[in-house]
Amino acid sequence: MARESDQTELRSRLTPEQFHVTQEKGTEAPFSGALVDNHEPGRYLCVVCGEELFDSSDKFDSGTGWPSFTTPVSEGAVREELDTSHGMIRTEVHCDNCGAHLGHMFPDGPAPTGVRYCINSASLEFRNAEEEPPAS
Ligand code: FE
Repeated sequence: MARESDQTELRSRLTPEQFHVTQEKGTEAPFSGALVDNHEPGRYLCVVCGEELFDSSDKFDSGTGWPSFTTPVSEGAVREELDTSHGMIRTEVHCDNCGAHLGHMFPDGPAPTGVRYCINSASLEFRNAEEEPPAS
């Protein structure tokens, strides 16, 4: 979690919902997020620090109302922690770089990984593959 001085900066830069989800472990309402039905090719970045977290090729329609992925873009992009809040035992998912709360991981995903990263749209920024700077 960000330090207090950083929190002030984040409050001014993020929307209230982005702040609530990433800094206060909030959850957006299902089917409310901007990226649930996004099928464009590209990368999903941490809305707080810009780190690349997920790739469109690993996104699938889970029917849950949240963007769902079978795997992060690379090992170590996200950090997983046990979450026992709300009377449930879940695996919480954070941005490894800045600690932003992203969502949860569940062991009920499709092949090949069998897991489902259930991620809040509000914690992500989408970068379309066509907008990526050309490699030179
Ligand atoms: Fe981050």
